[in-house]
Amino acid sequence: MDKKESNNQEDKQLPGTLIDTDENCPTPDQPHPHHHHHHHRSSSINATPSLIELHIHLDGSFRHSTLFELAQKKGIQLPNGMESTMENFLPYICIQSTCQSLAEFLTKFPFFTPIVAGDIEALERVAYEFVEDQAIQGVLYTETRYSPQFLTDNKLTPEQVIEAINRGLQRGMKEFSVDVRTILCCIRQCPEWSMEVVNLADKYRSAGVVGIDIAGDEHNYPIGPHVPAFKRALELGIHRTVHAGETGSAESVREAIELCHAERIGHGYAIIDDPSIYDLIRRNDIHVECCLTSSIQTNAIGKYIPKDSETEEKHLVIHGHESKTRLHSHIKSKKEIWHPIHHFARDGLNFSLSCDDPSVSQITIEHEYEHALSDLKLTPAQLTQCVFNAARSTFLNEDEKKILVQRLISTYIPSTIMENHFQNNNTSKTTLSQHV
Ligand SMILES: [Zn+2]
Repeated sequence: MDKKESNNQEDKQLPGTLIDTDENCPTPDQPHPHHHHHHHRSSSINATPSLIELHIHLDGSFRHSTLFELAQKKGIQLPNGMESTMENFLPYICIQSTCQSLAEFLTKFPFFTPIVAGDIEALERVAYEFVEDQAIQGVLYTETRYSPQFLTDNKLTPEQVIEAINRGLQRGMKEFSVDVRTILCCIRQCPEWSMEVVNLADKYRSAGVVGIDIAGDEHNYPIGPHVPAFKRALELGIHRTVHAGETGSAESVREAIELCHAERIGHGYAIIDDPSIYDLIRRNDIHVECCLTSSIQTNAIGKYIPKDSETEEKHLVIHGHESKTRLHSHIKSKKEIWHPIHHFARDGLNFSLSCDDPSVSQITIEHEYEHALSDLKLTPAQLTQCVFNAARSTFLNEDEKKILVQRLISTYIPSTIMENHFQNNNTSKTTLSQHV
């Protein structure tokens, strides 16, 4: 994926058909987000939505074009009197070539978040555009997450943030036939917000909020102060996922499961370091939300790459740029792991693929699957397994989950085979209720 190509403002054919066929779409002529331009796969691939994405931050998914437009409108200047052009703007909002740490990755957020935060109209717009972008990429069902408090900018209440985002999502869902639910994030650095997050998740559960998460600096901020909030979520039947084992240790994954009752783990790569925790995940069928490009850009997997067998290493090309991340062409022992997901796939762990922050990383979910297939050499069967893993690990209720899995089956299994099945099972073609 070439950065220059992906920064190109000229639009190409949309890969999907959902939007093209929707006559009610109010914005057919608007330019589409440039990070979608680098699709080089056939446009027919997304004719039927077939992907599930569980780990995607709404505030890491803003369109570059929207951020730029809003920044212009609000007179938000670039540092050092730099001219406000898209070209100058991009390095402040997304990873340009390689990035070597989570700290570097996170420097983008403080610049672009205030462009949208505290602005009801902007929040509704980015939520709406998020659904359209997921539709373009062939996503059937997605759970997007954000911190309501972070997006208030001290101008709105968290309720106003949630309601604005829900309006945008609902409008998008109606137009683009993607099912979207939301997860509210606690922030490691802000334990004083966590109980409020749980109460908000409870208040808005009939409006599509299905769970809570905790994001932020795992390394310097322990989980302890957040434990009461996660206990409360368990009591209220609010689903729980936890960012753990990304830049933190395997032990932080154990804490997420044992103290925070996590049903899913965000990233979790560090479990590869501790067989007992790896086994805990496997035995309990705990879902691991993996994000390939993000794990490389934040260097979350760097410490698992051995330094003493360089002759067997090859360089991974990311977005057309040769990364300093060394990958191994084959795996013989734990010492030679070049991505933990090889082990997850081999051992049948319940994991899936997501983008994390697609707008910051300049990727799409399609790109992540392609990356897994061509660079990491996962098999098509393993990738299909990922999609079904995601479907059975959503935070939907059991009935909705069944419908989602059936929709996937009818997408992945040839219709000639399924026809017989449909005749004996008339629930197969039902659609999920859209109740955001
Ligand atoms: Zn994340």
